[in-house]
Amino acid sequence: MDEKETAKEIRDRFSDFGVDIPQEEIEERLNKLTSKFKVPMSEARRSVTNYFLKEHNIPRNEFYGSQMETPLVNIKDLVEDGKWVNVKAKVLQIWDNSHESISQVGIVGDPTSTIKFVNWANANLPEVEEGKTYQFRNVVVDEWNGKFQINFNRTSGIEEIDEDIEIGTSSVTVSGAMVDMQSGSGLIKRCPECNRPLSKGACPEHGKVEGVYDLRIKAVLDDGESVHEALLNREMTEYIGDITLDSAKSMASEALDPSVVLEYLKSKLMGKYYTITGPKLDRYVLVESIEQQSRFDENALDELIASAEVV
Ligand SMILES: [Zn+2]
Repeated sequence: MDEKETAKEIRDRFSDFGVDIPQEEIEERLNKLTSKFKVPMSEARRSVTNYFLKEHNIPRNEFYGSQMETPLVNIKDLVEDGKWVNVKAKVLQIWDNSHESISQVGIVGDPTSTIKFVNWANANLPEVEEGKTYQFRNVVVDEWNGKFQINFNRTSGIEEIDEDIEIGTSSVTVSGAMVDMQSGSGLIKRCPECNRPLSKGACPEHGKVEGVYDLRIKAVLDDGESVHEALLNREMTEYIGDITLDSAKSMASEALDPSVVLEYLKSKLMGKYYTITGPKLDRYVLVESIEQQSRFDENALDELIASAEVV
């Protein structure tokens, strides 16, 4: 098939979608690929078609129709930028989000791995809830800064499934000094509807609400080589901080200032050494166990002696 015929076919197919592309423009692009770059016609056709799909914002799966059934893909295999996929996954975390263009952002997981998801506001999709499993249809793999995520768009579908799935995340163990606590640590308030932390008494989704108190720590641990971010939930914070939610609340109300809880936690925990274990989701280790260590425990001492001998 020559350029003219191929260009006409592409043109006709696009006109089905109400897009009028001048035939010469298609021919020119095909010609450049086949003559200048020696690309086979079938490949040139695919490439030029995809160019115009992107240009006119037409979802590939709609364009190709049943020729291209969206495949159900395991999360660990989501490594191809621009690929349209179906994913069956459980929502593990929904993050704080203050971008108006984003409805929800967080982490989903399946038995093979976990991945970040972005539910764009203009996709007009229902919101998902942490801990529930969904079938996500027609979502697009996107690479950003060398990391993969899935984006939901207006052709995507979200369907809750009554099924609990095991998440395949390997636990990590990190030992290091707690060198920082990030903002959003300490005594916080969450939205009673969606659980998001409130910012200045307001939920990004539900506006001014009567918040529900919670305790958490977003800690930074330095193991001497790199830093690790760790998220301690209420249970872990109460345990390691030797505090309860109730005592934190009375501390705050006596001082008329909730930030005293963070100050207390900082003075108690920072600069000390901890070993934490838990699954790592994106940036954060979700701490499932935490223990304080003395700086020179036996292992560290052995290492020190070993390295001294080398020198
Ligand atoms: Zn809310």
